[in-house]
Amino acid sequence: MIRRASFLFLAVVVISAFAQNSGSQGSSPVSQKPTSTKDVERPKSFDLDAMDKSADPCVDFYQYACGTWRKNNPIPADQSRWGRFNQLAEYNKQVLRGILEKAAADNASRTPVLQKIGDYYHSCMNEQVVNERGSGPLKGDLDRIAAIENRGQLTDTISYLQKKDVNAIFVFSSQPDMHNASVEMAGIRQGGLGLPDRDYYVKEDPKSQETREKYVAHVTRMFVLLGDSEETAKKEAASVMDIETKLAKASLERVKMRDPKNRDHKMKTSELAALAPDFDFPRFFSASGGPAFADVNVVPPEFFQQVNSVIGSTPLADWKSYLRWHRVHASAAVLSDPFVNENFAFFGHYLSGQQELQPRWKRCVDLTDDLLGEALGQPYVTETFGTEGKNRMLEMVNSLEKALGADIQDLSWMSPDTKKQAEVKLKAITNKIGYPDKWRDYSSVEITRDDLLGNTERATDFEVQRQRNKIGKPVDKSEWEMSPPTVNAYYQSAQNDINFPAGILQPPFFDQRQDDAVNFGGIGVVIGHELTHGFDDQGSKFDADGNLRNWWTDKDREEFDKRTGCVADEYSSFVAVDDVHLNGRLTLGENTADNGGVRIGLAALANQRAAKPDSKENQVIEGFTPEQRFFLGYAQIWCENQTPESARLRATVDPHSPGRYRVRGALQNNPDFARAFKCKAGQPMVSANACRVW
Ligand SMILES: [Zn+2]
Repeated sequence: MIRRASFLFLAVVVISAFAQNSGSQGSSPVSQKPTSTKDVERPKSFDLDAMDKSADPCVDFYQYACGTWRKNNPIPADQSRWGRFNQLAEYNKQVLRGILEKAAADNASRTPVLQKIGDYYHSCMNEQVVNERGSGPLKGDLDRIAAIENRGQLTDTISYLQKKDVNAIFVFSSQPDMHNASVEMAGIRQGGLGLPDRDYYVKEDPKSQETREKYVAHVTRMFVLLGDSEETAKKEAASVMDIETKLAKASLERVKMRDPKNRDHKMKTSELAALAPDFDFPRFFSASGGPAFADVNVVPPEFFQQVNSVIGSTPLADWKSYLRWHRVHASAAVLSDPFVNENFAFFGHYLSGQQELQPRWKRCVDLTDDLLGEALGQPYVTETFGTEGKNRMLEMVNSLEKALGADIQDLSWMSPDTKKQAEVKLKAITNKIGYPDKWRDYSSVEITRDDLLGNTERATDFEVQRQRNKIGKPVDKSEWEMSPPTVNAYYQSAQNDINFPAGILQPPFFDQRQDDAVNFGGIGVVIGHELTHGFDDQGSKFDADGNLRNWWTDKDREEFDKRTGCVADEYSSFVAVDDVHLNGRLTLGENTADNGGVRIGLAALANQRAAKPDSKENQVIEGFTPEQRFFLGYAQIWCENQTPESARLRATVDPHSPGRYRVRGALQNNPDFARAFKCKAGQPMVSANACRVW
């Protein structure tokens, strides 16, 4: 979808990978004997056994905090990275499985919500029926593509396929108007690639070339699975690669897309029609359904300009191959085993280094959550989330907001004028905790017990149309972009809100039984991280109302750029894997948020402790001072192992740094860390050129 939010970590668009980041510097232990992640225990919050006390905290704090955990927790065969985040996500998945298995039993006492999720899960788990049907359920769509005879029909078919979330050339949806963020408008955005990023198509290094060869071979095999001859399949795959390479060359780089001004191109639909006359946009929009509109945000115009010439110069037969590929690719995970396995072999195994496909139940839980998340979220919340947790969270959010307010007032580099504006923005931030006040209504989505592809398409169509129907309407600020069981959190510039799904509000992030230091190092830093997103390289360009408006003095903005430049250079020096470095510009927002989150998390903890000087919160516990427990708690959130393939992939597409560097970067910049562990200037965990933005 066209919306943009800053997540705590990211699910990359490669199969249905859940994810955060990792820190592998070459030596990620991979499981000797493949074990699946069944019966995962709920992770502990603060874990002395995870530490490697033989390491020097001032030399490698990540090893000190996580060394034993990393040694004892090799990557399970069905994962490409394994950290405490993943552990919690797997634990949640087991809870969801219990809910879904109960709901899948066909009986008269089910509520309509349980019928939807139960029957969807049932249709997904019914492997025999899915396998018997093979690619049969796609036949109607493939015939439709084969019957295209002219460019008008091509346009109509692209519109038809996009309703099924097929990634055909570009994405059409609603989005908040960047200059009037309370209203939804139409938006189109570059897209249409099968590989995870444009860079895969244009880079000339041997690894990129190898990946392209493997990709073409994969596309070829998928065509063969559809029944095409080897020879035909090869030709079709070559056409796909040719079109996608042209789209990739026309696409704006990921880092440039971070700059809001590159996403701000509102124009009349008539101007769009003039920009790309060879693609019949008026026809496309009317075929797409949804409300009529006069303005559309085009991201970026150059992409559509170049697509226009590709449309004109590419034979219809090639477009048909391209659409045929994307049609099967979009549904590969819900077709029969040969498609599922081939899809996994390329995206899961080759690109991510995952040894084994996840067991079917896990994939089916994920699919139900993706498609019917706010239906599945209802029994999940009832079963797991209490009001007590919500109240304690609200208290913590308030204390973090206070700490950020004080931090802003104390900044030496910012003028009073800009501080005042920042304060206005901070005060306007809305907090959403746990789950939505009003649940999404899926009653119009027909879900039957034995039609996995049909169910998936109807649920997808519902979501695509729901987004498009918003065009011209006020923004609904009560909506959530993540389902309640999700182990993640996000900030959204357009709505200026922070969101914490119920799924993350448990150990290791948040533990009622732990001392404040540990909770502030965990969920406290997460809250601080999301708040800081309102003031990172992207968020700082939006005002309190979510509009793209400059509220900075020129001099303060210059100082901000200098300071974020320091962070970008610092993280660019970190090695992800082999000779691949992190991209400090791609990860700038997240790194800024981590650094700010740690700083204000610690400040909030100090306020909390000052308010109750005699409590146990001010004592040494298990041999560590409150400050030390705060930093250890933070670092242990990020204990993880990752395959080298996954590290390589994420260095290109993930705006988050791997766990190792989320710890090292944020702590080596922080003088309070050095004080807490008595580290001295010149030691590795004390940066000679400490960066600070917030
Ligand atoms: Zn983030």
